[in-house]
Amino acid sequence: MSKQALITGITGQDGAYLAQLLLQKGYEVHGLVARRGSDHPLWRLDELGICDQLRLIDGDLTDLASIVRALQQSRAEEVYNLGAMSFVGTSWNQPLLTAQVTGVGAANVLEALRLVNPTARFYQASTSEMFGLIQAERQSESTPFYPRSPYGVAKLYGHWLTVNYRESFGLHASSGILFNHESPLRGLEFVTRKVTDAVARIKLGKQRELRLGNIDAKRDWGFAGDYVEAMWRMLQQDKPDDYVIATGRTTTVRDMCRIAFEHVGLKMDDHLIIDPAFFRPAEVDVLLGDPAKAESRLGWRATTSLEQLIVMMVEADLRRLSGG
Ligand code: GDP
Repeated sequence: MSKQALITGITGQDGAYLAQLLLQKGYEVHGLVARRGSDHPLWRLDELGICDQLRLIDGDLTDLASIVRALQQSRAEEVYNLGAMSFVGTSWNQPLLTAQVTGVGAANVLEALRLVNPTARFYQASTSEMFGLIQAERQSESTPFYPRSPYGVAKLYGHWLTVNYRESFGLHASSGILFNHESPLRGLEFVTRKVTDAVARIKLGKQRELRLGNIDAKRDWGFAGDYVEAMWRMLQQDKPDDYVIATGRTTTVRDMCRIAFEHVGLKMDDHLIIDPAFFRPAEVDVLLGDPAKAESRLGWRATTSLEQLIVMMVEADLRRLSGG
């Protein structure tokens, strides 16, 4: 009998890579799909060529009944809560929707689990955005949180609720505090993919300039494909716990951008324009994770460098734009 897994947010970047990983491991993979907004919500699953191997269930994180139904239908032994309103920039314009989907959504999944299947294992997608105004040079599981956006605040609620359900009800509930993780499947609103898509367009003569906001911001960027492996490993542990997942290296937006331009033989300074429209009401200046616990307990470490990641993304965008 294969194992059953349920992924919320299966149509997102991490959902797609995690679904692929679990299929490779022989799981039957069920996914909760909220069919609103996006024109072609399944494009990432299509790109990975796994669409017809999945069992998709219509439902929404804000609708407790649909989560209960998804748990009953899937009989999931592992539940990965990756669904969220995940773009920091938008969270200022839609703070209440962010609270509902990203915060209360996690509460709905935890409550549904407690009611329907309290022995299932649970993964909560927490985020380095919870560190926000950083309280330590390198952020670990014991660094105090100080979120700086409605998104970070909503995620912090989901994180602490996960800890509480573990401690209060004995759920096997783990939280992965993932630092920024990117891939060719990243949405265009995030800065890495905005850059690699623009660099590919400029290279192909379809665009002349790239407009960015605060390029002094620093992030600890890894490859999403590496990070979903850490999620799975957390749920294979005897005891649930919280883990920072990061590379341990931080880079400015400027230097990340330069890597992309240099890869195609262009000069960043010839095309980059700083545009105040892309600055945020509050900024997270620098993030740098300390993944020591994940390394020692999970045997996990990031294996893709930022250079490899950006080159992979630029190449994928060049291929897409050339119709190949
Ligand atoms: P985040 O860390 O989840 O907010 O990931 P993003 O990829 O959206 O942003 C990473 C950093 O890049 C933030 O500090 C942004 O302020 C900065 N940044 C600078 N220019 C841009 C831009 O044009 N778009 C985005 N998304 N971020 C930008």
